Amino acid sequence: MIELPISYKKRMQRLLGEDFERYQKTFERPASRGFLINTAKISEAKFDEISPFPASPVPYLSNGRYLLSDEKVGGNVLHAAGLFYMQDPGAMSAVAALPSIGEKVLDVAAAPGGKTIAAALSSPASFVVANEIDFKRAKILSQNVERLGLKNVGVTSLSPADLGKYAKETFDLLICDLPCSGEGMFRKEEAALTAWNEGINRMNEARQKEILRAVLPALKEGGKLLYSTCTYAEEENENIVDFLVSEMGLTVIRPREEILPYTAPGVGSYDRFDASFCRRFYPFISEGEGQFVCLLEKPGEKLYAQKSIPPSISANERKKILSFTDEYINGPIGEISKCGDQYFAVHPLARTIPLRFLAEGVQIGEIVKGRFEPHHNLFTAFGADFKNKEDLPLSDPRVNEYLYGLEIDGNSAADGYVAVCAGGFPLGGGKRAQGRIKNKYPKGLRNAKL
Ligand code: SAM
Repeated sequence: MIELPISYKKRMQRLLGEDFERYQKTFERPASRGFLINTAKISEAKFDEISPFPASPVPYLSNGRYLLSDEKVGGNVLHAAGLFYMQDPGAMSAVAALPSIGEKVLDVAAAPGGKTIAAALSSPASFVVANEIDFKRAKILSQNVERLGLKNVGVTSLSPADLGKYAKETFDLLICDLPCSGEGMFRKEEAALTAWNEGINRMNEARQKEILRAVLPALKEGGKLLYSTCTYAEEENENIVDFLVSEMGLTVIRPREEILPYTAPGVGSYDRFDASFCRRFYPFISEGEGQFVCLLEKPGEKLYAQKSIPPSISANERKKILSFTDEYINGPIGEISKCGDQYFAVHPLARTIPLRFLAEGVQIGEIVKGRFEPHHNLFTAFGADFKNKEDLPLSDPRVNEYLYGLEIDGNSAADGYVAVCAGGFPLGGGKRAQGRIKNKYPKGLRNAKL
């Protein structure tokens, strides 16, 4: 049984009043689990039909599911195929609070990628810049986006100050899911509980204000800001909303109706905004871990001209890449751009965002010794359009052999590059010769056992 610090308990008693007992009882149950269906690859109905584990719908987000089992799902083939992303149902309430998402979105603190993925899937016409200041975490974020094969996400690793400075008035929506004291995670993450101390809320409050002040110039006039944390402290929640309203000139707006029955109104009384528009997700109201959500708007409405920077690659590079993609992929892959040695299929909106990307879209590959070599991401994003496929039934032992990194028999594909699929869903690439497929599944992703 989790033992809460006495001073924390006192704070929560003051905050929750008679609901405190219900809150304490939630520690007798394990943290709930959930996932998002990757609707860029599979319909919700089809996923529910083939789902290898029991799940039920999250009522406020159509591709959200409660996972009704405590089994490990990371090693599952549908996970490797990027058909779902694990996300706590409480965290889902943040993107679910948005009535609309807008064209250009900046997720300011995005790793490991939950809110970015939820937003990119909820609004396929949007382009989401997933930013993470910590470079190691930005790499994890990139891998998650890559596994899901999302074409409308780019990844950056910049400070809030640089985002505000270099991308002035660029975004229609900022998602600010900021570092916090994590009180809503105590059931799930022991580290959050052990790190808690009496000064932590004020420390986070100061950091949250600093981040918001720095990044707000990146928001367009009339643009929206989704503020969220996974903590309960008023200092880090309603107080921050008050700061955004009083000092930054934003207005609090109504969240989407669907989340109201599963959340409680904000606490405290504020002159400049209606605290009931802030929403608090508690595990004693709905299944999931703690979350705070508030939607705000920047005043004004300006028309913005969209200047697009053309990607610069040489005619020779383009020819080599197109000779590969024309041979192997049905349909165009879009604009191609280069970053370092790597080529990317870029989303058109990415070219209107003046930031230095780690990944400007789908990483398609590089030219090695004069020949184009495809990257794993090309298969995760465009594998379904590959002309040459080895499509294995989900129960075929070659699926596990492939995910383990072995060479497999290629019975249906032709020689050359192959998209290796399971049940029709691309897992990665390979190269077939003489009836065998050489494994191109990245070493870092391979399963540890057969
Ligand atoms: N939005 C993510 C998701 O849904 O998966 C979770 C984000 S987590 C709550 C907060 C993130 O803020 C962390 O990845 C952390 O590295 C980052 N962070 C920490 N300090 C920061 C700072 N000063 N400026 C910007 N981001 C920061």
